[in-house]
Parts: sequence; C-alpha cells; structure tokens
Amino acid sequence: MNNNNNLKDEELVNKVAMSIENAKLYEETKKKVLQLKAIHEISKDIISILDLDELLQKIVDSINNTFRYYHTIVFLVDKNSKELVVKDYAGAPLNTAVKRRVKIGVEGITGWVAKTGEPLLVNDVSKEPRYLQIEELTDTKSELAVPIKIKNEVIGVLDIQSVKLNAFDESGIATLTILSEIIAIAIQNTYFYQETEHLAITDGLTKLYNSRYFYTALQKELERSKRYGHSFSIIIFDIDDFKKYNDKYGHIAGDQLLQELARLTIKNCRNIDIIARYGGEEFVIILPETKYNGAIKIAERLRKEIKKHSFTINKDEKKCKITISLGIAMYPKDADNIKDLIKAADKALYKAKQAGKDRWSVATSAN
Ligand code: GH3
Ligand code: MG
Ligand code: MG
Repeated sequence: MNNNNNLKDEELVNKVAMSIENAKLYEETKKKVLQLKAIHEISKDIISILDLDELLQKIVDSINNTFRYYHTIVFLVDKNSKELVVKDYAGAPLNTAVKRRVKIGVEGITGWVAKTGEPLLVNDVSKEPRYLQIEELTDTKSELAVPIKIKNEVIGVLDIQSVKLNAFDESGIATLTILSEIIAIAIQNTYFYQETEHLAITDGLTKLYNSRYFYTALQKELERSKRYGHSFSIIIFDIDDFKKYNDKYGHIAGDQLLQELARLTIKNCRNIDIIARYGGEEFVIILPETKYNGAIKIAERLRKEIKKHSFTINKDEKKCKITISLGIAMYPKDADNIKDLIKAADKALYKAKQAGKDRWSVATSAN
C-alpha cells in the first residue's frame, strides 16, 4: 500500500517537473522566435539603405523600437584620433552627449569593446569600474555593447542600455552580435556605393570632376539660377601648344602636367566653384552667382598664376612654363540652355586663341 503511494507521488513529481521543464522550454523557444523575428525585421529595414547617415539612424530606431530599450547608440571609430564618435542614437534624448567621444581602450564599456573586439555585458553598471556614464543617461542600470566589425577590424560599437538591472542575458548578446554582423555588411555596402558614386563622377587622372558630372552640375546650376533670377558664369580653358609639350617631353610628362595644373586650378578658385576636366587638356569651371566681372577676375588670376608657375617635368629638377587661353560665358546673358552656354564659352576660347593665346575672352554677345 505504502509502496504504491510512493510510486504515485514519484510519478506526480516527475510529471510536474516535466511540465515545468516544458514551460521553460516553451518560454525559451518563444523568446528565441521573438528575437529571430526582431533580427529579421531590423535587417529587412536596413539592408537596402545606401546612405550611411540614413542607415545608422534606421539601425538605432529599429533596435530601440523593437526591444524598447532605454537607449541605443551607434558609435563609429575615428581612426585618426583613436576615438569612438557618437553617430546616432535612439531613446532618451541627448544634447551635449552627442558630441561625446570615447577614447578607445582607455574609457568606457564601449571603449573596451572597441579595443578588444569582444562583446561586454554589464548587469549592474554601478559595480563596473569600466562604466562611463554619459552625462544625460542618468537612469542606466545595465548595459550591453557589441563590436561592429568588417573582416577583423572594429569599425564601430553598438551599445544598448536599460533602466533595469540584469536586463540582458547570453541570448541578448547572441542577438545583438548577429545584428552587428548584418549592420557591418550594411555599412560596408554604403561605403562601396559611395566609392562607386565617387568614381563615376571623377576624372581618373586629375581627380577633378569628369565631363559627365559637369553636364549634370551645369544643368542644376542653370535651373537654380533660373528659379532665383540669378546669373552665373562658366570658364572653359585649354593649354596653349600642348601638343608641342607632349612631343618634346612625352605623354607621361604631359599627364603629370595635367595633374599639377588641376591642383593649381583648385587653389585659385573658390570652394563653391565646380571644376571639371572637360576633355583631354581642356578644363571647365562653373562659377555660381558670378557675373562677367567676377568671372574675369578669376580667369585673369588663373592665367597669371599658371603662367608664373614652374611645372615639374618627369618628377625631376627640370621645370617648364606653360600658358592657357580661356573663354568666358554668362547665363542668362549669352544663352538660356546649357548647350548654347557651352558653345558661347567655346567660341570665346577660340577668340582668345585666335587673338594670340595666353589670354581670356568673353562670349560674343557681351561685346
Ligand atoms: P592650342 O594652343 O591651339 O590649344 O594647341 P594645342 O597643341 O594645345 O592643341 P590642342 O588644344 O588641339 O591640344 C591637343 C593636344 O593635347 C593633343 C595631345 O597631344 C594633348 N593631349 C590631349 N589630352 C591629353 C592627355 O590626356 N594627356 C596628354 N599627355 N596629352 C594630351
Ligand atoms: Mg584642346
Ligand atoms: Mg591646347
């Protein structure tokens, strides 16, 4: 009788234990499913964004909205200063802390993560000597930071903070690590895209804008000027007797001269001016909100400075002088569309060449 009762009790205990185990498993599974869903949701949101700022903003917003943390911050590494820079955040508002920089390996949980490339979970920040309180995040009780790595290099840190003690666990580290790997790929995509975009508008030899970009920028400038009732000018210039230079010193020396000339042109223009390599040894400058007077000043300065400059030949001691001729045209005085404006500047350049080179000339209708 007694034996029988004991058996029943044991069965009951086993059953209860099993159901507790099942309930635990169920909870764990539910949590995992929710975390996977969150990873999927966040990745879906960010993977196609090609602008870095937009991407980082979406990352912190998505993570904070999904997990409802007190605060989510994404830092990127500034390689020169060896610091982490706050790039974006979501959650409690920050004002001064936005400019916060964290010295890698010297301060903060994030600084440690950036240095070691390992995640760091802190269940109670008040007991953590590495904890560095961000001025405006006074309610933080626990923190989890994971590195963002491209290949093996840490390029940033993803940091989440909670107002609860022990807010994160091992599965939180796993979730955030997977997310940081996806984020790293998304960041790399924006870098590749930027690079491709840059290459598409840049002249390989001189690193100035190429003619394709020039046409687009010119059309934009024309539309902007039309809308605001402004004028603007363009200058096209061409090296005088460059064929002779090439014949004498060789094509490579010619290419080097074009590079030096590009640097000299940048130095003698304003920041707002757009300089492009228009053709082989022809360059073009868009001068926003500039009438003839201003354009002539720049053209004359450029002519003088280039004439004065001693160009290096084949990277050796030998120096050489060149001159340029320039044609100036102005919108809307000389043309009301980009094709005719270029034609007008070209004509002016031709006039300068005809008149003996080493000079500038303005478009016909201005005379
Ligand atoms: P002009 O004073 O009338 O301009 O005489 P020019 O000899 O400069 O004649 P043109 O403007 O027609 O210049 C064409 C020459 O420029 C042909 C070529 O020798 C040189 N050239 C054009 N593109 C390049 C380039 O990319 N590299 C080098 N090294 N030379 C180039
Ligand atoms: Mg030419
Ligand atoms: Mg020439």
